[in-house]
Amino acid sequence: MSETDSLPPLRDVIARHRLMADKSLGQHFLLDLNLTGRIARAAGDVTKGTTIEIGPGPGGLTRALLAEGAHVIAVEKDPRCRAILAEIAAVYPNRLGVVEGDALKIDAATLGATPRRIVANLPYNIGTELLMGWLENVQAFESFTLMFQTEVAARITAPPDTGAYGRLSIITQWLCETELLFNINAKAFTPPPLVQSTVVRLTPRANPMPARRQTLERVTASAFGQRRKMLRQSLRAAAPNADAEGLCRSTGVDPTARAETLTVEQFCALANAVDAAKKS
Ligand code: SAM
Repeated sequence: MSETDSLPPLRDVIARHRLMADKSLGQHFLLDLNLTGRIARAAGDVTKGTTIEIGPGPGGLTRALLAEGAHVIAVEKDPRCRAILAEIAAVYPNRLGVVEGDALKIDAATLGATPRRIVANLPYNIGTELLMGWLENVQAFESFTLMFQTEVAARITAPPDTGAYGRLSIITQWLCETELLFNINAKAFTPPPLVQSTVVRLTPRANPMPARRQTLERVTASAFGQRRKMLRQSLRAAAPNADAEGLCRSTGVDPTARAETLTVEQFCALANAVDAAKKS
């Protein structure tokens, strides 16, 4: 990073501020300039609107985003990072705003000017919860470029008929196009996590198939809750008063199929059929 800004190397910054990684906050810092630059560039053109970063920590990715021309709003829970982030903000006047707080309690959909994108090396323990929250208001965002543990990234992007395909794949792919970008070896982090990491990009769909999210969540929860069972049985929990076999037939879905063979569109059709059955 010292090639792109006048700030000292991250290792020196961390040592000077005695920032010991806190496991309870999922702190694994990425100090490799090539990697932080690669993630920042994977977000595409960041020069317009606002780039929201969750969990900047000592600011490796933040610095890479600023070097790419972004206006960054960074949400960090750990107050120990305040002084480090202030030093970065001083080098990039009016380009970095820091919100100190819990990203789970902050509505990212209202932060900064549009277009709004989220770029983050997420704390693994709350990564999917954060994503599910942002998807509640998906149209507020232009894109999400996010690092997850590899197993979660695989679930987000999994196609039907694979072991990783499930509720997370369906809700995310219903609302966004998803791409697996690249893996990052655990050794690149300080301290290294026990798992490998993968960067994914999600781009909100302009016209997702109409469906009620609550019903889609219920249908997928019940279908994948009994993954090995046929839909005519596993769907009973989602529509206790409806004829599960009839629901499947009305949407052209084979009632003897298993959940993992259905496309996202078929799940949306089933959710709509469940809602229609409730009204009739
Ligand atoms: N972005 C830095 C990097 O790439 O080196 C740090 C990434 S580290 C995996 C996750 C960061 O998220 C930490 O800085 C941690 O303090 C922060 N964090 C953890 N839980 C958080 C929360 N609920 N809200 C905001 N930040 C959080």
